Formats: sequence, structure tokens, C-alpha cells
Amino acid sequence: MKALPPGSTIGILGAGQLGRMLSIAAAQLGFKCHIYSDVPGPASDVAVSTTIGPYEDLDKIAKFAAETDVVTYEFENVPVEAAAAVERVRPVRPGLKALEVAQDRFKEKSFIASLGLPLPAFAAVDSADDFAAAIETVGAPSMLKTRRLGYDGKGQARIGRADELPAAFEAVGRAPATLEAMVPFKFEVSVLLVRGLDGVSLAYDIPQNHHEGGILRTSTVPSILPPEHQKLALQIAGRLADALGYVGVMGVEMFYVGEGPQPLLLNEFAPRVHNSGHWTMDACAVGQFENHIRAVVGWPLGATGRHSDCQMTNLIGDDVAAWPELAAEAGACLHLYGKKQARPGRKMGHVNRLTARSGMGK
Ligand code: AMP
Repeated sequence: MKALPPGSTIGILGAGQLGRMLSIAAAQLGFKCHIYSDVPGPASDVAVSTTIGPYEDLDKIAKFAAETDVVTYEFENVPVEAAAAVERVRPVRPGLKALEVAQDRFKEKSFIASLGLPLPAFAAVDSADDFAAAIETVGAPSMLKTRRLGYDGKGQARIGRADELPAAFEAVGRAPATLEAMVPFKFEVSVLLVRGLDGVSLAYDIPQNHHEGGILRTSTVPSILPPEHQKLALQIAGRLADALGYVGVMGVEMFYVGEGPQPLLLNEFAPRVHNSGHWTMDACAVGQFENHIRAVVGWPLGATGRHSDCQMTNLIGDDVAAWPELAAEAGACLHLYGKKQARPGRKMGHVNRLTARSGMGK
């Protein structure tokens, strides 16, 4: 496909803050964005147009797609049938394969394992019949996670001993799940990779991620990940993206164990721009949102190099009330998502605190 010229329309499935920041980046390059979502969201404040409709209304989705030149998605739980309905009319990037694999934890882990990439021991727990085999494979301590629709620590239950599995299965609502070994990690990192239409990939510097209550709190660059393990992390993410025929930005979360034959273990990947890459908006020449747009419209990718050190802090729930102080803070780049209600656990914005670049990192 030829590169889409400025003035073209990019469709985005989903109306959340990621769609909003994608729309802002697209506008900067002269593109228009058209959102499709089942519920109104903050992306519509900045996109040119929005269609509200259920993801099950395939006719409405096809009509939406016909009004665009290419379509992307900003969350991984878009029903595959909806993306397939778009694909009959316009290209969908990243592709359907990434969507299908990422939205089912067991499929995702099986796919990663089939590529020979390192990940914690795992087993399917679709019903009580699977308890014994899962414990045999994974043991305890471990974590039960629903196969679908889990995010920010939701749909998860930790088990300390094997006999706690039945209670954990009740706790996740007896939904089909995956049991995975608890990883005694030193810290968590993620690779933000962007793969162009020509199959060439670039990556950002690797942030170190700190979670609180299952929700990302901060991402910091540079991380203290040793250089040889940074290289390994990039190789792992690159192989995954190549295997998926991926186009766009992908966030690949990993646990850093440090010792032994597998210093890094893959946790999960997001087939979209990722919260742990929000620092790239201010600390890099071309941030993740612009690079995702560049990839989906078939443009050359922008430079991913980092000019500053940065800590990104999510503003969750009432944190956003501190906006007057944050706005007055030197070196703090404030991003607010325009959400009306600051419910607990809700991501309301983020702040990127820039400092002069130290020697480490890329
Ligand atoms: P997830 O939704 O899979 O990203 O999990 C949310 C957070 O829970 C992760 O970022 C980790 O902090 C923690 N976590 C998830 N899986 C594991 C695991 N297998 N071992 C240890 N901690 C985990």
C-alpha cells in the first residue's frame, strides 16, 4: 500500500484516552480521526467525528469503515468480529491476529510459548475439572487470571497454596481462566516497539514500571536494566511482533528476574499504544502516539531516541485534583484526559517529569 496522504481519515475503534492521544497526534500530521465506540469517551472531544454504536452492529461498523481510509483500535477487547467487519472494507492495523491472540490470556501465553519465548509456567483452568492438572503444571504460589476482559489487576486472584485454587476460581466468578506461576521478579519493565508497514521495527528506551494495587503508577527512564538484558528484551519483543505481522506500536510487559537462564519473563503484550509509553510524548523526538499513526498510515517511522530522563506518573482518581500545583511545577508536562468523573482507580491523566538526560539508556 502507498502511504496515505495528510487529509486522509483514520478510524479508531474505542473512545478512551488512548484514542484521544492518538487523535491529537494524527491531527498534528494533518489527518482526521473518526471514532467508533459503544460508549461516548474522551477521544470524541478531539476527533473530527464519532459514531456511537454497539460492536455487534456489523452493518454500522462497515458503514463507519467506508468513511475512513484505514482503521486502528485503542483497546484489545474490540470483538474480533467487529474488526473483521472493518477489514472487509478497509485495512485494520495492527492486524486481527494480534487482537485475537491478545484478548485471551491462554491463547496469548500459548502463542508466546510456541515461539519459544520465555514466560512463567501456565495452564488453563476452564472448569473445576482442570484444577489438578493446573496445579501439577504450575504449582503454588501462583495467580489465577481470567482468560478474557482482565485489566489493571481485575479478574485476578493470588493463591499461596494449592488447596486455595477452588476459592480463587470462585473469586474470579468461575470464568475460564489461566493459572500462572508467581514470579519473584526484581522489577517490571516494558518494551515499546513500533513496527512499520515494511516490517522494520524501532523501539523506545525501556522503562521500569511500578504498579500499585495492580494499576501502573510510574514508568521511569532510564531503567536499571543491564544493557545485555535490554538487548534481550528488545529481541523478545521483536520476535513477537514479527510473528504477528504487526503494524503499529506494541507494549510488551516483562518481569525482570535477573538470575538464571531466563532473566526476563514475558507477562503480556498490548496490541496498541501503552500506558508505560506515555513518557515518550515529552522525552522523545517522536512519541508513541505519533509513531503508531505513522505506522498505520504507511509513513516512515519517527526517531525513537530519548533526549531527557523522565518519570511518568499516572493521575488516578482524585490525584487529578492536584492539577493547579502540577500546572505550576517546573519541568512537569501535564496531560489531562477530559474525563468528567474522577472515580477511584480511573486514569484521569498523567504527568511527565523531565530532567536532564543521564548517561544510561539508549
Ligand atoms: P497483569 O494484568 O497480568 O499485567 O497483572 C497486573 C500486575 O500484577 C503485574 O503488573 C504484576 O505487578 C502483577 N503480576 C501479574 N502476574 C504476575 C505473576 N505471574 N507473578 C508476579 N506478579 C504478577
